[in-house]
Amino acid sequence: MKYIDDDRDIRFNLLEWLDLDAILKDGPYQEVDREQLGMVLEEALKVAKGSLSACNGTGDRVGAQLEDGQVRLPEGFSEAFRDIASGGWISATMNPEFGGMGLPECVGTGISEFLMGANTALGLTVLLTRGSAHLIEAFGSEALKAIYCERLYAGEWTGTMCLTEAGAGSDLGALNTKALRQADGTYLISGEKIFITSGDHGLTPNIVHAVLARTPDAPAGPKGLSLFVVPKIRVNADGSLGVSNDVACAGIEHKLGIHGSPTCSLVFGANGACQGFLLGQEGQGLAHMFQMMNAARYEVGVQGLGNASAAHQAALAYAKERLQGRGPRSPKSATQSLIIEHPDVRRLLLMQSAYVQAMRALVSYTAWCMDMAHVSGGEEQDRWQGLVELFTPISKAWCSDWGFRVTEWALQTYGGYGYTMDYPAEQYLRDCKIASIYEGTNGIQALDLVGRKFKMREGRPVQDLLGLAGRTAQALAGHPVLGPSARQLADAVASLGQVLAQVPARDNGALLTLLNAAPMLDMLGHVVAGFLLLQQAELADKKGAELLRGRGLEASDSAGVKALQASSRDAAFYQNKVQAAIHFAHRGLPLVAAQAVAILAGDIAPMEAVF
Ligand SMILES: Cc1cc2nc3c(=O)[nH]c(=O)nc-3n(C[C@H](O)[C@H](O)[C@H](O)COP(=O)(O)OP(=O)(O)OC[C@H]3O[C@@H](n4cnc5c(N)ncnc54)[C@H](O)[C@@H]3O)c2cc1C
Repeated sequence: MKYIDDDRDIRFNLLEWLDLDAILKDGPYQEVDREQLGMVLEEALKVAKGSLSACNGTGDRVGAQLEDGQVRLPEGFSEAFRDIASGGWISATMNPEFGGMGLPECVGTGISEFLMGANTALGLTVLLTRGSAHLIEAFGSEALKAIYCERLYAGEWTGTMCLTEAGAGSDLGALNTKALRQADGTYLISGEKIFITSGDHGLTPNIVHAVLARTPDAPAGPKGLSLFVVPKIRVNADGSLGVSNDVACAGIEHKLGIHGSPTCSLVFGANGACQGFLLGQEGQGLAHMFQMMNAARYEVGVQGLGNASAAHQAALAYAKERLQGRGPRSPKSATQSLIIEHPDVRRLLLMQSAYVQAMRALVSYTAWCMDMAHVSGGEEQDRWQGLVELFTPISKAWCSDWGFRVTEWALQTYGGYGYTMDYPAEQYLRDCKIASIYEGTNGIQALDLVGRKFKMREGRPVQDLLGLAGRTAQALAGHPVLGPSARQLADAVASLGQVLAQVPARDNGALLTLLNAAPMLDMLGHVVAGFLLLQQAELADKKGAELLRGRGLEASDSAGVKALQASSRDAAFYQNKVQAAIHFAHRGLPLVAAQAVAILAGDIAPMEAVF
């Protein structure tokens, strides 16, 4: 199964659209330049299209296996992981002090999209290894940092996050794993975690688990949780590996997708000999873990994008090869047309492309906001950080929900062959589905948005977002190509504003908000994506016009324009970017007004229904 990337749009986002000068000025990224960022993408893409892509199909068909208590990964996974590790792709955006490249997050997004799109199972190992190392970097003692950070960032060892237990999934306050403090300051860990991604495997000689557990006298609920580093193999003071640390894999899940990713049940301390090391302070475990969870939530959004983009590119390639029927431009032809000639197939394809571009704009902009928060200080930093926090649940839930739908549209493009295992569409669809479930279900993301993110910082981030979208709509209202789309955006902003202002003021506002948290998140996702896509389209329109001028062509010369678009990859790219934004504005943005009608009607039928 061959991974087909969308490198051109990733480069547009990073190198043409985002204001890189604002983050590459004096400060943490002053040593980084645009050329370097372009080269980084090029190298990451080689690994994605090489060893990662090569074992993605095998990973799905063979899957992770548990044999004699050992988890074995499919052929090719070890080599692919070595390529990831040796290329430095786990720590591209991380601290150079611990071996990272110290690159901005907005290039990290492109790297993650490549890895997730080419092989989601291995992309997840990368995500978790980076996240667990960063936890230790942020909250570990100097000794823990010295032992673990560099080895994890280098991919010498891998990491996990161990939250879920059989009776505690969304409700982390119900976690029951125990941590008993010892005289030497370490803790004895005991309990069972389930659904732990990359919980066991033979990729590396050690696995470092970040475990949430409860000390004996801790209060019930989330405030009683503490965070621990628990290696699979104990590590000696000199960094060499010692004896087993009493962590056993009791089983792996048989599941819908990501078969190459071992989802493990882990038993800690069955023999009373599982040693853990406290990260940060007792009782602050969940607050500390949120650092990893927020990063992981954002990256799960990138997974949705990566799966959707790969599925779309594969469907597009198929549509350019498959002959069937006669298209409207050649109804009497003696030979069959390519299916890409059929309007319904074209609609399916542009819808996929529009949503993929929308997701990419959303996660790229969010990463850029992270970088802006990183390079600025004071009130400005607070503003960018507010947007990052607002966009995190939206990136996670909106990209995983719409990413899944894109994989479904991509499968539909193939007709019957899409439903078979001869083509990659069905794997992308199955691999993508999990993104709406783990790292906090999308229902939980929506509750985070309406319960916490709307209210944080006196509601400034959400007002900021409405302002950004409204100003984009206003600025483009008179644009000769994008004016009608800008009016769709203005309507969507108005509908969203009405819902945000009116629902909380209702007598049953709290219930209505809970019932409509997911639709509200969907409205915000569309509005953010809508304004970002229109900004991109304005730039693409300008660049397309420059290309025409460069060839001495007038926009009115449709034959000349078409010839240019057929011969120039850039001209075609800019044309499609504008068309995708227009399509999104007319087919996606009206969903915001439709949601508003339903919400403002005060429908509470789900609470009245008798199930
Ligand atoms: C393949 C896979 C990999 C995973 N990897 C990891 C991992 O590496 N580490 C880890 O710790 N966990 C992992 N998980 C666990 C995952 O994060 C949980 O499955 C998820 O958080 C949901 O918990 P649950 O399955 O217990 O569902 P439940 O919490 O029982 O939820 C069931 C349904 O109820 C809804 N719901 C629950 N509570 C509320 C509420 N308060 N308000 C509104 N709706 C609610 C949910 O949205 C969902 O629709 C993984 C799971 C899978 C399937």
